[in-house]
Amino acid sequence: MKLHEYQARDLLQEYGISVPPGRVAENPEQAAMIARELGGRVVVKAQVLVGGRGKAGGIKLASTPEEAREKAEEILALRIKDLPVNKVLVTAAVAIQKEYYLGLTVDRGRKQVVCIMSAAGGVDIEDLAKKEPGKILTLPIDPQKSPQAIRESRGKALESFLATAMPEALVVETAETVLNMYRLLKDKDCSLVEINPFVQVEDGSLIAADAKILFDDNGLIKHPELEQLRNAEEYSHDEIRAREAGLSFVSLDGDIGCIVNGAGLAMATMDQIKLFGGSPANFLDVGGSSNPQKVLTALEILLNNSELKAILINIFGGITRCDDIARGILLAMEQIEIPVPLVIRLIGTNEKEGREILSSAGLVAAEEMSAAVKMVIERAHGES
Ligand code: GDP
Ligand code: MN
Repeated sequence: MKLHEYQARDLLQEYGISVPPGRVAENPEQAAMIARELGGRVVVKAQVLVGGRGKAGGIKLASTPEEAREKAEEILALRIKDLPVNKVLVTAAVAIQKEYYLGLTVDRGRKQVVCIMSAAGGVDIEDLAKKEPGKILTLPIDPQKSPQAIRESRGKALESFLATAMPEALVVETAETVLNMYRLLKDKDCSLVEINPFVQVEDGSLIAADAKILFDDNGLIKHPELEQLRNAEEYSHDEIRAREAGLSFVSLDGDIGCIVNGAGLAMATMDQIKLFGGSPANFLDVGGSSNPQKVLTALEILLNNSELKAILINIFGGITRCDDIARGILLAMEQIEIPVPLVIRLIGTNEKEGREILSSAGLVAAEEMSAAVKMVIERAHGES
């Protein structure tokens, strides 16, 4: 789950990290009002769930409330990487002396948290990684360690690490910021906590001038308080509908729709589609306790995709009962038009009943997965 900058900086602040004063606005008038409250120069910043806003014209300085109103109007009319801008953050401008990059993320390969730091802050870290990877430094952190243990670790590993890229005078305070970021990452199960730029202001203070936070979706169940931060615009209409119906759904860019029970089988199904020369349109797991309604909703969601050329329903019945799935298919055929070929593979619990239900509607289900996958690809390509 992604946060907007205005939400992420609130969390940073809760964890003791300084951010420039400011507030979010939904229209140019509000932006002008906030600029008036703040006094002096302000920055008007597009709130969209992608990076690189600066380059796209989504970050603008304004010297007066009237100018803040104009800039807000311009920014709210933008589309950044195809996303509309619905809100702007207005903050007091900081007099930047130097920009650093500070990030904490999870390195799944190393099974560690990794602190990423660069003296070439402000720019897109992905760009920097491609062009000048030498300017990015990393320090693995044992995720079992408490912030206190890291602070007290022998040799002051974190401080020595920071000292390789920043003046000695900034190290202790920056280390404190990293430890606060780490507390936040652990407390809320974040997969990323990033400050870019982490700014050394001309008066010598350090401040987080941009904030990016991602939560691990699998951790969200432990943090009901975060649910209110969820942004509907992160999800497609179909993804929202799928979540409400208890389906795990991810859209992909292929043309073969998949309805599968179980995430593992869903992954294997997509792998086989690729292996035999096709391309999956989605990942969709109907979950364990399937009911006919779920199958209907799944088909409706898949059919919203204008690229769709064929659908494969691949069920290995365990807790999921084949007869429920078959009933769902029939229910869907009664209620909606299915204008693309449908290939069904059904084995496992209540398979016999499932096949009987299908045959009453003239449908035949394959038994073997590879055969079904090959067939759906042929049908998608208009063969046989
Ligand atoms: P991003 O492009 O989406 O990462 O947006 P940022 O919030 O990081 O802003 C991009 C750049 O705008 C920063 O790296 C700064 O160079 C500049 N910027 C942002 N806030 C301020 C500010 O308060 N004062 C000044 N002088 N520049 C700023
Ligand atoms: Mn940034």
